[in-house]
Amino acid sequence: MSEKDVVRGRFAPTPSGRMHLGNAFSALMAWLSARSAGGEMVLRIEDLDPRARSRERAEALIDDLAWLGLDWDLGPVFQSERGVRYDAALAHLADAGLTYPCFCTRAELHAASAPHASDGTPVYPGTCRDLSPDEVARRSATRPPATRLRVPDADDPTGTIEFCDLAWGPRREVLARECGDFLVRRSDGVVAYQLAVVVDDAEMGVTQVVRGRDLLGSCARQIYLARLLGHEPPAFGHVPLLVAPDGRRLSKRERDLDLGALRERGVRPERVVGTLAGAAGLIEPGTDASASELVGVFSWDALAARREDIVVDAALLARLAG
Ligand code: GLU
Repeated sequence: MSEKDVVRGRFAPTPSGRMHLGNAFSALMAWLSARSAGGEMVLRIEDLDPRARSRERAEALIDDLAWLGLDWDLGPVFQSERGVRYDAALAHLADAGLTYPCFCTRAELHAASAPHASDGTPVYPGTCRDLSPDEVARRSATRPPATRLRVPDADDPTGTIEFCDLAWGPRREVLARECGDFLVRRSDGVVAYQLAVVVDDAEMGVTQVVRGRDLLGSCARQIYLARLLGHEPPAFGHVPLLVAPDGRRLSKRERDLDLGALRERGVRPERVVGTLAGAAGLIEPGTDASASELVGVFSWDALAARREDIVVDAALLARLAG
């Protein structure tokens, strides 16, 4: 097996709070997918946003991953320490004439009745695409611009991205319709998630990205960016989200379901891992299991068969508590 054939997955948590059950589920599936293929894992802390930059929270996340029985071969790598790499990628795109400054505010974009992408952001209508250098200079004096990447028009085949998700099967997206020209740097100077992820996954040799299905809509952008930067895009597998019975996505606000609270209540890792694996259809519900015991039973077939979200209902909560 050549080095290229080795599967390398990753954990990419954002330390904006304690790890919750949904993050634990994605992390477990990413780890099982890589380990069941004899592959490796890397750990990257996505702390680009200054609001998510907390060593203390990052350390709690790292400790929660280890407590779940998950391990990694490389990292932790902190995005906040990698600015030079992102700047180099931005310079590469700028030199190729692919980016432009954008002065639109988020409020302006949301107010426009433009269609919205699958992740809820408005499809960029191209407002700042062709500003003259004078106009850019004039506007820059009052407001620092964001940077957008130009995507091909809808009728240009290079802007149609096809890929096959490990769970969702073949997908085809037209960038001009899905998102339009997208942000690679925010107006506050912070590099956009899409760019950082692509630069990092390529540099860390990640061949397989497994994460929550809320990010399925980002794949086309990430594949397009990877190719522009001269990288082979990784494979993608999107797993169900955990939702409350009313369909709301579990979030870091559900404090009693974060791993800190569960651990404080004395819940064992085998109970959490077994409950999550049972809910995903990997094992009989109601069985405790360690992560390493599941390596032999993991399969994408089980996950491909269940695309709907996992409802954290009374039965699941009773199972966790019991
Ligand atoms: N950092 C993101 C999160 O915590 C995940 C990004 C990714 O997996 O591409 O939701």
